[in-house]
Amino acid sequence: MKKDEPVPFLDVATPHRVLKAELMAVVDEALSTGRFVGGPNLEKFESAFAQFCTTKHCVGVANGTDALRFAYIAAGIQPKDIVITVAHTFIATTEAISQVGASIVFVDINEATYTLDPQKLEQFLKTECTKKSDETTIHTKSGQRVKAVVPVHLYGQTADMDPILELAQQYNLLVIEDACQSHGAAYYSKNQKCWKTAGSMGIAAAFSFYPGKNLGACGEAGAVTTNDAAIAEKIRMIREHGQKKKYIHDMEGYNGRLDAIQAGFLAIKLKHLAQWNTQRHEHAVYYNQLLKDIKEVVTTPHLEWRKGVYHLYIIVLSDTKTRDALQQHLNNNGIGTGLHYPIPLHLQTAYSYMGHTAGSFPVSEKIASQCLSLPMFPELTQEQQQRVVAVIKDFFKR
Ligand SMILES: *Cc1c(COP(=O)(O)O)cnc(C)c1O
Repeated sequence: MKKDEPVPFLDVATPHRVLKAELMAVVDEALSTGRFVGGPNLEKFESAFAQFCTTKHCVGVANGTDALRFAYIAAGIQPKDIVITVAHTFIATTEAISQVGASIVFVDINEATYTLDPQKLEQFLKTECTKKSDETTIHTKSGQRVKAVVPVHLYGQTADMDPILELAQQYNLLVIEDACQSHGAAYYSKNQKCWKTAGSMGIAAAFSFYPGKNLGACGEAGAVTTNDAAIAEKIRMIREHGQKKKYIHDMEGYNGRLDAIQAGFLAIKLKHLAQWNTQRHEHAVYYNQLLKDIKEVVTTPHLEWRKGVYHLYIIVLSDTKTRDALQQHLNNNGIGTGLHYPIPLHLQTAYSYMGHTAGSFPVSEKIASQCLSLPMFPELTQEQQQRVVAVIKDFFKR
């Protein structure tokens, strides 16, 4: 690699170039059989992905947002229920809450994990909610039932699930995981004394196979994983207009199926996912090593209880001005960067009706305004990483 060759933020092209013959065979087969919806490719992928996530069931759907929405509906979230989640996530997590008619409540993230802070969840449940003596569910002071909590396994790292699951049990809440960025991430459960895979810890979990995700389709796709047979069956109905049998509708649903061609692509790419995740992990370790002497750069803390799959590799800078200037400097030097995500949800115009202000969720605000995502994809080379870090060092005049 030449000294000042650009480093892309993401390389979606290379894996498809490598797998092209195999992927084209899926297209050929679909064109000659005319099987574009359902069929063996879908079933094959669903059972392989369930196995990968160590769950009993996987139901393919049209995208990650549908996966969230269908999981919420199938889990029994009703209009006016409250669903608790974080403000430091992609808006799909909360869009789907509103789309089922429920209300969003934000809880702040933890500074070391960038995910839902169990202590702040407990604080909300203890101080803002009451349990009527004759009921098992809790309500907010406004009288709304608190039904579910949605931890988001952001950046390819799991939330701290043991205390979240304990609180959920204590307060009778459902846990639905947003695992859209965490295909294959692992969490060590002290309670169960074993490693658990993202997507296997709640009542259901949503995955996205948007092209840039660790497992990406060549278009839109998603899935719900669950160990609950009734939820899996319900999602199979919801994705297909509420029908179990053709034209027999037990309920209204959606058109939210996963295309047969995409399922065929995903089944091929899934065989490489563990290897790709290992490569991402190695890159993260190498970045950490290269960056450790730059005191202005904070890397994601290593925590014994989780193994990340680094959907994104983020660093945190001292303030927004430094972050923005460093991003500009990297971009000027041909290095791709991203911001995930620059404005926390509670400060978005879409949620201005909630009345939150700057200061409502300080950790979410801090990470949003100081984080910077560096190039991260399996094919990234050590030379490319060295170049990224050399440009960062140059910025800080090291
Ligand atoms: C990508 C993503 C989604 C939505 O997935 P789509 O397939 O784009 O609908 C939801 N939540 C998170 C955290 C995501 O990163």
